[in-house]
Amino acid sequence: MKSKFNFRRLCESLTKKFERDSNKQNIIKLSVDISIPNEFYGSPEVCEKLLKLGYEYFANKLINGIIKIEIVRQTELMQETTLMVKISGTDNIQNSENHNLISLIKENELLGLQNEFKEAEYIQISSEGSTLLFQITLQNIESSTNKKQALNLKDKKILIAEDNEINAMVFSSFLEEWGCHSSFAINGLEALQMVQEDEYDLILMDIHMPVLNGIQATKKIREFNKNIPIVALTASDLEQDFNGAQIAGISDYLIKPISSQLLHSVISKCLLDAIDEF
Ligand code: MN
Repeated sequence: MKSKFNFRRLCESLTKKFERDSNKQNIIKLSVDISIPNEFYGSPEVCEKLLKLGYEYFANKLINGIIKIEIVRQTELMQETTLMVKISGTDNIQNSENHNLISLIKENELLGLQNEFKEAEYIQISSEGSTLLFQITLQNIESSTNKKQALNLKDKKILIAEDNEINAMVFSSFLEEWGCHSSFAINGLEALQMVQEDEYDLILMDIHMPVLNGIQATKKIREFNKNIPIVALTASDLEQDFNGAQIAGISDYLIKPISSQLLHSVISKCLLDAIDEF
């Protein structure tokens, strides 16, 4: 099914899922080029399937290895963008296994994925390891949301409601880089009181907090402030977390650990959506 989806978020949450499910202590390193727009129109299921196929190829062979997933922009036309996906592992794959790699790609073609991808092509196996290289072509989204990434966050007042001090420091160091001013609440009740007393442009709201959790705090805040963007932060991608969050009036959500790029794009999007509403 084709739809508008956040490609960067898909890659990040998939990587986290791979890491969680891995029982071989492999390290997975994801890098999505910063110039790649977050949102595209296409099939998230197909992207997920292909990334998973590439990842599993190496995961099945490696123990304590490093699997790198690198995504760069190859070409950008008016209507579509072609991304180059490179997946590599640190082990030495013997020549005798080359045909397995090729049959993996053939199997991939059998799945009918070639309609979604212009090429899904194995390119090289070097002595240092091997690299699976393929292209994904996705339709650009005309809009708005991608241009919105460019929003300047300077002097925005952000409330960080987070009971984990280290996480809070990480977020505030990102925010500081963009010229934002951070304030801190260590639980949901404190966040609620601070929003009652002062004005903020946006709240980063941890879901799991003592006294009042993020959902409860959001519900209370929404009783008197419908507009302030509230971005939920969760440690897991548990569906029920987000369902609860949406009902409570959350604007968007992020799964920890959060890359600075994704944090920036989600904050920008939420702030612009909030402006649009006036
Ligand atoms: Mn927490």
